[in-house]
Amino acid sequence: MIHVENLTKYYDRFCAVDQISIDINKGEIVGLLGPNGAGKTTTLKMLTGYFKPSAGAIRVNEYTIDDHPLEIKRMIGYLPETSPFYKDMLVYDYLEYVSKIKGVKPSDRLPRLRYLADLCGLNQIMHKTLGELSKGLNQRVGMAHAMMNDPDILILDEPTQGLDPNQIVEIRNIIKKIGQEKTVIFSTHILSEAEATCDRIVIINRGKIVADGRTEDLKQAAGKKTIIQISLLHTSADAAQKTLSAIDGIESVDIVTQTDDGMVTVKAHSSGTVDLREKIYKTIKATDWTMVEFLQEAKTLETIFRDLTRQMN
Ligand code: ATP
Repeated sequence: MIHVENLTKYYDRFCAVDQISIDINKGEIVGLLGPNGAGKTTTLKMLTGYFKPSAGAIRVNEYTIDDHPLEIKRMIGYLPETSPFYKDMLVYDYLEYVSKIKGVKPSDRLPRLRYLADLCGLNQIMHKTLGELSKGLNQRVGMAHAMMNDPDILILDEPTQGLDPNQIVEIRNIIKKIGQEKTVIFSTHILSEAEATCDRIVIINRGKIVADGRTEDLKQAAGKKTIIQISLLHTSADAAQKTLSAIDGIESVDIVTQTDDGMVTVKAHSSGTVDLREKIYKTIKATDWTMVEFLQEAKTLETIFRDLTRQMN
């Protein structure tokens, strides 16, 4: 349904989005997950036609963004990170106004407003002003706005940012309900948020996609990887790092601590599913180091996310 190829965005000479390619199928709920500054908003703004890409192609069904930007905009409902609302307007008046500017036929307006009020839980607040609503309620109004012309695709930029836990659950439930019929793409910097709501997670860091998979598959793959923490005496951090990095199956070795009494602690990250404990033990046994601690833990999606994005933090 959505085909993105080598999408790139430069702000002057700074590359904020770097050759992103992705295909999103009809009916998927996709979480675009990444730390602050990763390029999520920029990517979403290009998908929605608000920003012109510096390079690359976007196609939605049979339309390309270069040749049919209006057709694509019509297919997409967008909730930006901050919605500029008219604070003095009643929710009802505001949504009716949105229905007019979005071209909903006069005879369809009332049924549409009723449907969206049910979907987004707005029935109790239709006659309140936008200014008196909590942030969570404002977001729900924003979702009704984005869904007004019944778009096939809903794009939400950090929809749960700044909400309390109850409001977050409410927004998640609305997203899931909408996702039963529509394609939903939303950005977040919180892994648990993506895990709770999405069929698929795309991790973005420094403008590049660093992981992309079904949420369940990513979780399972994460669980098969391990981190082994080893504390050693009579060696140097450099020697430990170099020797352990040379073991086949070890992806990287981080130095955790190096104490004044000569103890070096490192963390070795396995790259696959093979049990490396024996190999590591034999490698250390062949040296004159003394091993004083050896701990193995399974990686979680959280540790994978941190590994993939840690250079930003
Ligand atoms: P956040 O969660 O903080 O909004 P993000 O993942 O949405 O982050 P973007 O807002 O897309 O990231 O920003 C990506 C990078 O581009 C950041 O380094 C940001 O500082 C930079 N950037 C964003 N907008 C502009 C702009 N208008 N001019 C120059 N640089 C920009």
